[in-house]
Amino acid sequence: MSENLFDILERGIADPEATAIETPAGERIRYADLVARTGRMANALVSLGVAPGDRVAAQVEKSVEAIVLYLATVRAGGVFLPLNTGYTPAEIDYFVGDARPRVFACDPARADALAPIAEAAGARLMTLDGDGRGSLADAADAAAPAFATVPRQADDLAALLYTSGTTGRSKGAMLTHGNLVSNTLALREAWHYSAEDVLIHALPIFHTHGLFVATNVTLFSGASMIFLPRFDVDRIFEAMTRATVLMGVPTFYVRLLQDDRLTAENTKGMRLFISGSAPLLAETHREWQARTGHAILERYGMTETNMNASNPYDGERIAGTVGLPLPGVEIIVTDPETGTELPRDEIGMIEVRGPNVFSGYWQMPEKTAAELRANGFFITGDLGKIDQRGYVHIVGRGKDLIITGGYNVYPKEIEAELDALPGVTESAVIGLPHRDFGEGVTAVLVGPAPPSEPEILAALEGRLARFKLPKRVVVVDELPRNTMGKVQKNLLRERFKDLYE
Ligand code: AMP
Repeated sequence: MSENLFDILERGIADPEATAIETPAGERIRYADLVARTGRMANALVSLGVAPGDRVAAQVEKSVEAIVLYLATVRAGGVFLPLNTGYTPAEIDYFVGDARPRVFACDPARADALAPIAEAAGARLMTLDGDGRGSLADAADAAAPAFATVPRQADDLAALLYTSGTTGRSKGAMLTHGNLVSNTLALREAWHYSAEDVLIHALPIFHTHGLFVATNVTLFSGASMIFLPRFDVDRIFEAMTRATVLMGVPTFYVRLLQDDRLTAENTKGMRLFISGSAPLLAETHREWQARTGHAILERYGMTETNMNASNPYDGERIAGTVGLPLPGVEIIVTDPETGTELPRDEIGMIEVRGPNVFSGYWQMPEKTAAELRANGFFITGDLGKIDQRGYVHIVGRGKDLIITGGYNVYPKEIEAELDALPGVTESAVIGLPHRDFGEGVTAVLVGPAPPSEPEILAALEGRLARFKLPKRVVVVDELPRNTMGKVQKNLLRERFKDLYE
């Protein structure tokens, strides 16, 4: 039997009349509509030359038609390549040149700038705007709805997602049908998802979180989603009157907490609040629970592996942890130097194995071999530990580890102390070049009324070993973040690189 993600999705549709997607404009897309629209789009892609294994790239605004394009690519046996809408033409040139898609869908406003790039890569340039209109939509409208989904095996590619590449070049993570389906089913079970669920979908769809976690889990459950073009506080409160689940990055929760409408009463119909893609502050977790009565469920994943761990649905959701390995996923912590497995509670490199783990980096066999072990474990680049109860704790990216005077310093430990100080909203601890120490531990703070440097050092004395104490404290208006809410420490390191000169 075909293991094409779409075949499995379609075989599982219990009620074709049920709503799959609802838009703010009041449009309702039933499951039957989704099958027909993806059929039309798949026919259009085939007529544009897409054959099984071909890439279909898309740098388009969020729209239902963009979801249709993703599913249609998969139906046609193609490989979907979503691109961040913020990328400049120069960046797009790299991705499109590297992946050499057959079709490249872009916003009509950017078609002129991107045409030479598409041509150089041998891609057919088509357009799709935020309302789902453009030459690609026209081609789909003119095509027939019936389409025989191309049979695929679990290890055939379904998607190519480039990593955000804060160190060196972005790498294309090759994700198979089996990777996506297995993870969707694991999450559906872990989060008790059912056809009764209504998800508030306010995430971008060029990233694993919004494209796969949110969309696939909803569609594979026969549930529906309220499809918002972007995060919008008013629309989220409006949607909460009839939704059951919100999936967000930590910044969503921080912003919602700033609004008086966040009350137990206004969230009483909600079943589940999920956070991921970046660390949720323990304080945000506590405040949210105090205001609403709901414990945010934090989970952990990445482009290369889909989701790895999740706090339990029924058991204790522990703030500051990312929970337990998902069903079928193995997580170990190893010594970064030797690769040997470490005992519980010891900090080291997090490694992951399971049907969720990607099959390698596109056309980068050396990088693949360096990060994906022969025994199937993927070296995530995240440092963390597994506690006595089996909960996974992340202490930061390996590249954010600070080595000062020969000692390892994990930023998160110091950030937690700083965040707890009165007048501090949040912090980022980074290592900066330092003549004596190699790297100097440096605290970057955000207000509203941060204490002075001597006050901070006095407060941390006795709480942290001396070598961990920040050598300098700088205050900024806000921390630089990417669209998924991740603090971009590389930008902070660049900005303050001469601090100790
Ligand atoms: P990406 O590949 O862009 O999805 O980024 C994946 C990275 O985000 C992971 O390797 C982690 O460093 C980070 N990440 C994702 N979820 C969490 C979480 N719940 N807590 C801390 N870091 C997270």
